[in-house]
Amino acid sequence: MVGAALACALAQRDFSVALLEAREPAFDWDPAGHDLRVSAITRASQRLLQNLGAWQAMLDERATPYQQMHVWDRAGFGEIHFDAADLAEPDLGHIVENRVIVRALWELLEGSGAQVLVPVRLAALDLSDTGAVLALDDGRTLNAGLVVGADGARSQVRELAGIESRGQAYDQHAVVATVRAELGNRSTAWQRFMRDGPLALLPLEQDLFSIVWSTAPNEAERLCALPEDEFNTLLTGASESRLGRLSLQGARAAFPLRLQHAERYVLPGLALVGDAAHVIHPLAGQGVNLGFLDAGALVDALVSGRERGRAPGALATLRRYERTRKGHNTATQLAMDAFKHLFSNDSSALSLARNLGLGAAGRLTPLRRLFERVALGQGLELPTLSRPSR
Ligand SMILES: Cc1cc2nc3c(=O)[nH]c(=O)nc-3n(C[C@H](O)[C@H](O)[C@H](O)COP(=O)(O)OP(=O)(O)OC[C@H]3O[C@@H](n4cnc5c(N)ncnc54)[C@H](O)[C@@H]3O)c2cc1C
Repeated sequence: MVGAALACALAQRDFSVALLEAREPAFDWDPAGHDLRVSAITRASQRLLQNLGAWQAMLDERATPYQQMHVWDRAGFGEIHFDAADLAEPDLGHIVENRVIVRALWELLEGSGAQVLVPVRLAALDLSDTGAVLALDDGRTLNAGLVVGADGARSQVRELAGIESRGQAYDQHAVVATVRAELGNRSTAWQRFMRDGPLALLPLEQDLFSIVWSTAPNEAERLCALPEDEFNTLLTGASESRLGRLSLQGARAAFPLRLQHAERYVLPGLALVGDAAHVIHPLAGQGVNLGFLDAGALVDALVSGRERGRAPGALATLRRYERTRKGHNTATQLAMDAFKHLFSNDSSALSLARNLGLGAAGRLTPLRRLFERVALGQGLELPTLSRPSR
């Protein structure tokens, strides 16, 4: 998602771009089914996709706006409720299937002038001050002024460039599935914090939700293997029946969760974006949104570098990108990590703190506003592509 968005943006700005992708994305699917992987897209990401020209195709295909969000705690009365109407906003964001995002971006790539090489992997990467030589696994060789690693958490580009990435596996896996809710979805996202991890219910069309249920790895495995009826009963209980009975629609899958951050994002002739640079807990649905902000910031740095007559791989240009994004990504990662620990811990003192925190957030307008700005992706210096177009 992040690499395709960046490739579109750079090609639209007359950079000469080649996109290398290991797996041909699937573009034909049964519209009755849903991708198990969805993203909660913030306003900043929506604008970036709008400014690129990919957003309308996503709306035409399937993207669900949500107007409200409820967050509550397992152990008490703490609860926050967000409402787009309070902010004079049409919605708090959209839930979009990842395959819908990828298809819209690849359709845009077709007419963008970018060269798309798929399926292909790197065999070797040789970086120097004047550019990079990429040896591909099909025997071809490419020369590039800049190589961008947008190849996800286990980035081969990062590894070939010798950039360390620090992190650790969380003691949680996320179970994802599509479920139907007896009481419909009322355009509302729900998140309940439980001892073993948060349960998120993200609204799709009509009465459907995409769930992200983070829990202990062995419990995630058990949940995926349970007979459907038992799974439905446990899930309905975990949601405190707020949406009536929840029933599974199709497959379940589990993903291990990690915290990970590259020690640096740039070298001469190389930059990392998206999950290749940072991986965060999905509890606030920020991962790909941070990646889109990376893409936007790198575009700004490269355009400004070109105006000064610098080569795209010049370290001064790339450092500007790193300075813009690393602090914000670190802060978001730490905040999500703190939330994860605060809400997973069983001590009664922390439970009290949680309840006071959520209760206070419900009452204290400035704190609420802060939460809302994060949901709307507004609380920071945005890259040009994420600003409203004039
Ligand atoms: C359960 C779960 C729920 C989530 N929910 C949300 C959410 O609601 N909102 C949100 O913002 N984020 C969410 N995230 C995080 C989000 O999915 C990631 O941040 C996002 O996928 C990162 O995008 P990316 O393009 O950087 O990397 P990826 O999506 O990992 O894409 C990497 C691409 O590189 C390709 N590739 C990999 N290796 C190579 C290679 N060697 N050569 C060539 N190509 C290669 C892959 O095929 C792939 O196309 C969630 C994550 C999980 C696990």
